[in-house]
Formats: sequence, C-alpha cells, structure tokens
Amino acid sequence: MLYACGVVSTTFGVRTTLGYPTDSKTFIALFLYAIISLFLLSTEKNKKRGDNMSQNHLENTVNVQESTKEIINYHTMQISDIYDNLQTKKEGLSSDEATNRIEQYGKNELQDEERKSVFQVFLSQFADLLVIILLVCAGISMLTNNAESAIVILCVVVMNSIIGTVQHVKAEKSLAALKSMSAPYAKVLRDNNVCSIPANEVTIGDIVLLEAGNVPPADGRIIESAELLVNESSLTGESENVIKTSDILEQTDKEILLGDRKNMIYSGSLITGGRGTMVVTNIGMNTEIGKIATLINKADKKKTPLQKSLDSFSKWLSVGILIICAFVMLLSILRGDELIDALLFALALAVAAIPEALTSIVTISLAIGTQKMAKEHAVIKELTAVESLGCVNVICSDKTGTLTQNKMTVKSVYENTTATDVNNSIDKDIDYSKLISADLYRAMILCNDSVFGQDKQSTIGDPTETALIEVFGNDFTNEVRNALPRVSELPFDSDRKLMSTLHNINNELVMYTKGAVDNIVPKLTKILDNNIIRDITNDDIDKINDMNLKYSQEGMRVLCFTKRIMPKETLSYDDECDFIFVGLSAMTDPPRPESIQAVSECISAGIKPIMITGDHKITACAIAKQIGIFKDGDVSLDGHELETMSDGELLTILPKVSVYARVSPEHKIRIVTLWQSLGNIVSMTGDGVNDAPALKKADIGVAMGITGTDVSKDAASMILTDDNFATIVKAVANGRNIYANIKNSIMFLLTGNFAGILTVLYAALASLPTPFTAVHLLFINLLTDSLPAIAISMEKADGDLLKEKPRNIKDKILDKTMLINTGVIGALICVSTVIAFHMGLKVDSETACTMAFATLCLARLFHCFNCRSKKPVTAIGFRSNPFSIYAFLAGVCFLAIALFVTPLHGILDVVPLTISQLGMILGLAFLPTLIIQAVKMFKN
Ligand code: ATP
Repeated sequence: MLYACGVVSTTFGVRTTLGYPTDSKTFIALFLYAIISLFLLSTEKNKKRGDNMSQNHLENTVNVQESTKEIINYHTMQISDIYDNLQTKKEGLSSDEATNRIEQYGKNELQDEERKSVFQVFLSQFADLLVIILLVCAGISMLTNNAESAIVILCVVVMNSIIGTVQHVKAEKSLAALKSMSAPYAKVLRDNNVCSIPANEVTIGDIVLLEAGNVPPADGRIIESAELLVNESSLTGESENVIKTSDILEQTDKEILLGDRKNMIYSGSLITGGRGTMVVTNIGMNTEIGKIATLINKADKKKTPLQKSLDSFSKWLSVGILIICAFVMLLSILRGDELIDALLFALALAVAAIPEALTSIVTISLAIGTQKMAKEHAVIKELTAVESLGCVNVICSDKTGTLTQNKMTVKSVYENTTATDVNNSIDKDIDYSKLISADLYRAMILCNDSVFGQDKQSTIGDPTETALIEVFGNDFTNEVRNALPRVSELPFDSDRKLMSTLHNINNELVMYTKGAVDNIVPKLTKILDNNIIRDITNDDIDKINDMNLKYSQEGMRVLCFTKRIMPKETLSYDDECDFIFVGLSAMTDPPRPESIQAVSECISAGIKPIMITGDHKITACAIAKQIGIFKDGDVSLDGHELETMSDGELLTILPKVSVYARVSPEHKIRIVTLWQSLGNIVSMTGDGVNDAPALKKADIGVAMGITGTDVSKDAASMILTDDNFATIVKAVANGRNIYANIKNSIMFLLTGNFAGILTVLYAALASLPTPFTAVHLLFINLLTDSLPAIAISMEKADGDLLKEKPRNIKDKILDKTMLINTGVIGALICVSTVIAFHMGLKVDSETACTMAFATLCLARLFHCFNCRSKKPVTAIGFRSNPFSIYAFLAGVCFLAIALFVTPLHGILDVVPLTISQLGMILGLAFLPTLIIQAVKMFKN
C-alpha cells in the first residue's frame, strides 16, 4: 500500500513541480487513485481489525466458556435419562435414524474460516503493487489522450487477474482436498454393529467407542470407562492427564467447570490411555472446541520458509529494479523524451522486470506437488514439510506394518513343552480349540479387543490381536466371549507391552495377561503343565526362552500368555505379576516386497534407513536383514542397552546402528535428537499415542493413515494412507522434485526479466531509441510468461533424483550457480534481441521495436524447454511434459495474434514484418536455446 501511495504522490509531484497544469482531469485521476488506495488501505485495515476481532472473540469465548451454563447438564444426569433425552440406546442408533439426524443437525464439522468467493479472489488480485502501477499507467494514458494504450493495459490487467484467480482457486481446492484426506474416522455402534465412519458423520446420540490414541470426534458423556485417560490441555490448559469415569456427578449450586467434569469427554482432547464408550451430546460448532474454532482455522495459514525468503527476495529485487527504472527514466528525460512517456515506460519496465509471480509459483508448485503426492498415498499436512522432505537424510521407520505387511498370522503355539503348528488360519477342518488347552485359547480370545466384522470373516482391530481370533473363527470366538464376559481390564500400551483382562470362570476370578516374552518371563512363578499348576523351574524358563529365540530368529513376533487367580473384581497395574505360564504364540508378518526396493533406493539417495521397533531385537534384526536395512558390520540396540549408554557413547556408534528394538517412545525422541545434533534432517514414523512428541521433534513426522492413532496423525506433518515405507521414499523423491521445479520456474522468470531489462539498459546507454513500448513489456510479462512458468512447475520427477545426495537444508534456492546462470542466459537472450533490434533499425524504429519485442517474447518461450531440467530436452523427452508444449503453443498464438492481426497493430504498437524479418526473429530467438541445449548435451 505504501508503494501505491508513493506512486500516487509521485504522479502528483511530477505533475505539479514540473509545471503540468493540475487541471480537472488530473484531479479526477488523483481522486480515483486516492479512492483505490483508500479502498486497499481499508481492506488491509479491515483484515487487521478482523484478525484482532477474532483474537478478541477467541479470548472472550475462552472466558465465556468457563462461565457459560450448558443448557443440559449431561454430567449430572443418569445415563438412562441421557438415553431418553437424546432418544438413543446403548446399542447405538439405527443407520436410518443416524442419516435423519445428520440431515437435521448437519455434519459434525467445525465451520471453516469464511472462504472468499471466486469474485472476491478476482478482486483481491487488484490489491497488488504491480496492478496498482498498471492502473496508474492506464490512468495516465487515458489522461494523455492515449486511450488505446489504456485499453490494452486494462485488458492485460484483467487477463492477468483471471489467470491469477484460476491459479488461486485451483491451489485452494487442492489444499482443501488434502485437508479432507487427513480427516479422522470414528468407531461407532450403529444397529448394534461396530463400524468405522468418517468423524464428520458422527451425530447426536451416537455411541462412540474410544481407545488410546483417539481424538474424540464430538462431545459426549462417558457410559463405560476402562482406565480411560484423557489429556484436555487444549481446552483447559491443564497438561496433566485426567482419569475419566462413567460416575454421575452431583449437582451443586455452582457450575461444575469443564476441567472437573470427569464423566464428560470433549472433542479436541486426546485419549492417552485406556478404553471407553461415550454417548454423543454435542457436535460440530456446538462442541466446546467449536466455540474456539477460530484458533484452529487461523493456525495453518503459515507461509513456508521458501515463500518467506522469496517474499523478502522479491521485495529487495523490486527496490533494485525501481532504482534502475528511475535511472532509465532520467536518461529518457535527458534525451528529450516527453516526461509522461518516460514515466509510463519506466513504470512498464518495472512491471516487466519485477518477478511478481515468484511467490505464487511456489504456492502453485506446492499445491500441484502435494496433490500428486496424495495420489501416491502421502498426504502432506503442512506445506513446510515439502521443503524439508527433499533434504531428509535419515529415515527412522517402524517395523510392523510399515516395513512389513501387517498381515499377522499365527504359525505356531507352544504349551506343555510342545509346539503345535497352526498352518492355516480360520481353517474350517481343524478345530484348534480342541488342539490347544482351554486356558491358552481363552487367553487368546478373551485377552483381546479385536472383533469380527458383519460378514463374520473380516476382522476389526489390532493385527496382532486379529491374528489370534482368526485361529478360532467368528462363532467360536463369540461363544467363548459371551460365556465368559470381561469383568475388568488393563489395556495394552507399548510401554508395559502387556494387556490383562479379568473373567469370572466357574466362580473363580481369572486374570489373563498377554504380552512381550521378555516383559513377562521375569514375573513367572508358576506354570500350567498338562492342566496342573506347579512351580516354574529354571529348566522351564530355559525352554520358554529357547522357544522364543527360535521363533524370533525366524522373524516371528512372539506373545506370552499367562493366567492368575485374583481375589478382587477390579484390576490395577500392580496385579501384573506372579503369573502362571500358559503358553506362547508365534506369528509371522512378512516384509512388504516393495520395502526391499525402497531401502536400496534410500541408500543410493544418500539416506540412512533405520528400523525402530517395539518388537524383540532378534525378530527385528531378522526382518531388517531380509529387507536390506541391517548389513554386515551394523549394530542393533535394544531399549535396555540404550538406557545404559550416555549420549556421548551413543553418538560414537550412532551412524552404525540400523536397528533399535524394544524401544519406548522416549527412546525415539532421543534418537531423533542425537541425529539432528549431527546436522541431519530426520524423518520419523510413529503410530502410537506416545509417539506424538517424537513426531513433532522430527523434521518430518510421519503418521500411519490406516493403523495410526488420531493423536499421532495430529502431530505428524505427513500421513501415509497406505502405511508403507516405500511411500516415504517416494515422498522424498517428490519433495526433491517439487523443489527442483520451483527452482527451475524461478530461473525461467528471472532470466526472461533480466534479458528484458538488460536490453532496455543497453539501448538507453547506447543512446538508441527505446527497444520496447510499455505495451510490449506488459504483453510479454503478463501474457506469455505465466503459463510456461506453471508448466515447468509440473515437470515429472526425474529417475535420477534419487541418485543424488540430499540437498543441504541451509542451501539458498537462489544460490551462486543459479544467479550466474540467470546472468549468462539473460545476457544471451539480450544479445539475440539486440541483434534483432539493430536489424530492424536499418528499416525504421517501429520495425526495430516490433522485431525486438517478437524476438524477446519468442526467445523466452523457447527458454521454457531449457528450464525443465538440468538435462537436455533430448534426454528427458520433448513430450514428457505436455504442459510445456501447450504453454509454448499458447504463447506463440498470443504472439502470432499480435503480429498478424492487423487491426490490433495500432493498439499493440507493432508494424507488419516481412517473411525474411520473421525468419530472422525465429532464428535469433531460437539461438540461445540452441546454445544452452548444446552445452547441456556436452555436460550430460
Ligand atoms: P513397531 O514399532 O515395529 O511398529 P509395534 O508397534 O508393533 O512395533 P508395539 O506395539 O509396541 O510394537 O509392541 C511391542 C511388543 O508388545 C510386541 O513385540 C509384542 O510382544 C507386544 N504386543 C504387541 N501388541 C500387543 C497386544 N495387543 N497385547 C499384548 N502385547 C502386545
């Protein structure tokens, strides 16, 4: 805006100080510009005021939230009354009823910040320094009776704004599509069946199943809780986790504050442990988080570092260019040109030379690139991540599901010192319940949260657990579960690596526990030996450990099952001891075939792949060897070993460690921090609730779209919709490609602009007539330049991208090589243009101008092909980026219209050319590209 005012006041100053009559036209013009400036100023002010207002609104809502009385206090109501009130039941809503309610109450969504309409976006294109300069030019032209120029400039401004609007709307759409792809799901009971639905389809009265790692999809009253632990810091500011129960709260005179409502759960909080069920009481904007939704909308409108650095580069460049333009204007005036003409030309030159498209090219490239990545299963949540992706040189990956298929299949069980092969899961012919002792199958079925789906074949739940029930099938599993319901439970978490459930069996309270062998063996005191419980011996322990080792060496995941007779009906973590050994199960999870290829690509791309797993070290190493992560001379460490080592000790062997086993989430943070301390850019995958801090700490936190918890997805900057390691490697390649494309587009814009300004400077210094008119420069810069720049940003990834070393994050995009190339190529194009100009001068100055304009325009269009890649066009294929051909043809069409449609000649300041002159233009315009391609071929 300051610029706009500057331009307005400059115009005024020029006119008065140089004695131009400040007549009525001038006043009208100034009045118009002042109105435009005031309009723009006020929109900026309004924007700021809007920001302040929403900030105030935020603060108010946070305060109000504490004092607002809920219309219905669900926390003080009996659950049965809540069901009546919400017309629901513990089996959940029927699907039809849910559909009706979604229609009635709307979707469970937070309203987005108001989106600009297409027309508003179009209008906002005028709030730009360059457009303002152009409008000033048009105004001056109008007042100096040069209506034709004014019309051309206005047409160009409108065309440019249309292109800008289309780009903006497209970019917004792809970013909105990305956002919807990372939207969460929720498990609800509909028609008494568990189903996973998009969180925005959850409605009032729905019964929602909650487990560690979920972000509650709506506000609700807890109807069942098993050690349900919730973090409500985003709502209450309290960082400590709170235990939630289903107990009714007593109504008091004072309103019970949100943080004290222990039986309510709110969307926006995180479930950090346990399991539970809730009935939905509020959705969408009526939830507590809905009241402070503005905060969420504001949060993700950050510019990426690249956008910021280009913003500041553009500003400095603009200042430099304005100085050059002032210099050119001075020379024109000294040469005796009309002041108004000199001013108009200088302004046009400024518009032509300032690379205003720089930042929008970055936005478009990021939008196009991220959409492509989403199609390849990597959903980018923060645009900043794309820039860092290209620099990643360490990828720490989970094993289960990411490097392996997460298709667990029980292959063998061990009990009574005998291993039984379980060859084919859900094998109708073999009744495993008869082969396996009652206690082992009960432990496998009962100490397990997975369920069979409606089709009775598919399973829902953690693959480790689904594998266990698949051994027995739907009917038998349900039969056992119905006969022996759960009385109490201690859910699985990756720190304890255990899970326990309590059941009433023949009037005895039996606790079944399953978990990692090494976490259970030290706590074994007894063994179930052919249905007799006796003290466990060292020999028994050795046999269990040997079996565990044997299974692990085959790359299998081993679980240990135990039981314990309990005196009471509720379980606490202290009860997980004094176990009676019941048996082991061993399950395979084969590596993904594509992981092997991706790991080898990683290594040739200078990226170190590391496996970080909660699994046993020997299992982990066996799989890591198969995939190629663990090589001769590499080191593997487990959680205990990590804890005994100091940071200094770990740093000395860090580059050699390629497998970390039995790690806890805290270890992950330590590993990331140490790698980062050596100057590396680290990508870390995670799926659990406790992985969030490590994902945040990593440069690229990667969450699993299928198996990951909502909490991990929330903390990540990228979500893999296929949970696949190979996708990370593809994303890195795409990140590198997007960066390279942005760099190439910028190079294209800068060289073209530089060639233009150099030609003008040459003519000014050589006392030649001005080689271009204002209209020419605007025509080239605004009509023929944008499309090739966009086409370059759509270039496909070159296969060799993953053969190069990662880029150093500190490298500037406008590095020395790029600036030198810009200078040299700009000079080459300038030489061609100047030669064309001189040839034209032999006829007259109009022909010279037309030839210079056509040569510069065409040379820049040809140059689009040079900027596609470092390699020559012959190596990358002329047709491999069809957009570059379309952009070139569109530019040529524009130029042909300007040169051959005679009625436009007057408006566009061109004169008819002869065939030989056209031939010369073609040859001269192609010359720089020919030289550049030859040099590239030579280098290639
Ligand atoms: P990765 O980190 O490679 O993805 P993971 O996430 O599967 O591995 P965890 O889930 O932390 O690792 O599991 C660690 C160990 O805990 C397993 O090796 C297994 O012994 C045990 N375990 C896994 N799932 C369960 C479960 N549902 N119940 C009891 N124990 C389990």
